Amino acid sequence: MTDLNALIQDLVIANRILAREEVVDAYGHVSVRHPDNPHHFLIARSLAPELVGPEDIVELDLDGQPVRHEGPSLYLERFIHAAIFAARPEVMAVVHAHAEDTLPFGIVERTKLRPVIHSGSFIGSEVPVWDIADKFGDTNLLVTNMAQAEDLADCLGGNNVALMRGHGFAAAARSLIEVVRLSVYLPRNARALMRALQLGGEIKCLSQGEIEARNRGYSPYSVETWRTWEYWANKAGCSHLLTRPDDRLPKP
Ligand code: MN
Repeated sequence: MTDLNALIQDLVIANRILAREEVVDAYGHVSVRHPDNPHHFLIARSLAPELVGPEDIVELDLDGQPVRHEGPSLYLERFIHAAIFAARPEVMAVVHAHAEDTLPFGIVERTKLRPVIHSGSFIGSEVPVWDIADKFGDTNLLVTNMAQAEDLADCLGGNNVALMRGHGFAAAARSLIEVVRLSVYLPRNARALMRALQLGGEIKCLSQGEIEARNRGYSPYSVETWRTWEYWANKAGCSHLLTRPDDRLPKP
């Protein structure tokens, strides 16, 4: 199997995992930068992530336009991916979703979403909140053009996640496995924080040192990361699409 085909299979797995873990439903999407052309990325056509197969993957450029014309209908909010890939050369994978547990933190100004559980460390120490109304006034809240997406990418800056007020979040990472993991743990971290706030008292977030310690020496193809990917793929009913990581793992 070529690298490109293997990556397309990984992208299908990512779609199915995000659906099974309820990060996405009929809406929400995940993309990966093209391995041979950094100015292109791969994403599904307009389809619920749970239903995505390898034949549904299309190639878009960094304006969010299809590389091949007369293609299928595309996600209205594909510009989010285009703008983040354009702004962040090191980012290889992007997720946009509406996971409910993240929404309160995009609406309330006083309480910020911060990592409070060990697996929440992947979201990073800062989670900015982007409000489309700041620059674009009354819209339908969807990111439907490059100007809006570039403003979102600006707000994201060098962080891993930006919340989108009254809408959802955008997440960026160096690999598909990482962006999926980040997107699965983001709502869980938000839920833990929400419950802690309900208990009352002082909230103890992960320290900067703890966040750094968890990310130190990290490899997307470590045995531990692969274990999670394999578990989630199996749970999502697509373990048959897994390409073995043996050739990606560092040799002992
Ligand atoms: Mn959306």
